[in-house]
Amino acid sequence: MSLCPECGASGVPLIFGLPAPEALAAAQSGELALGGCLMPRQPPNWQCSGGHQWRDGDEIAFDEQLLTVLAAHGYRMD
Ligand SMILES: [Zn+2]
Repeated sequence: MSLCPECGASGVPLIFGLPAPEALAAAQSGELALGGCLMPRQPPNWQCSGGHQWRDGDEIAFDEQLLTVLAAHGYRMD
């Protein structure tokens, strides 16, 4: 979990690149944000419901949140 530095809303993981089907489903239900195929040089990794994007250096929290969301939509890690 990461909070938006601009409005204080809780963020969802922001990912770049071609999304997996599970990621698309998660994005459609608002649990994940898709940044598109072009990754910026210093990519943000969280987005709030207000559309703000920011970078949080806590990669572990990001990975945990991302995997939780993807698993909820049927993604399985081998
Ligand atoms: Zn915000």
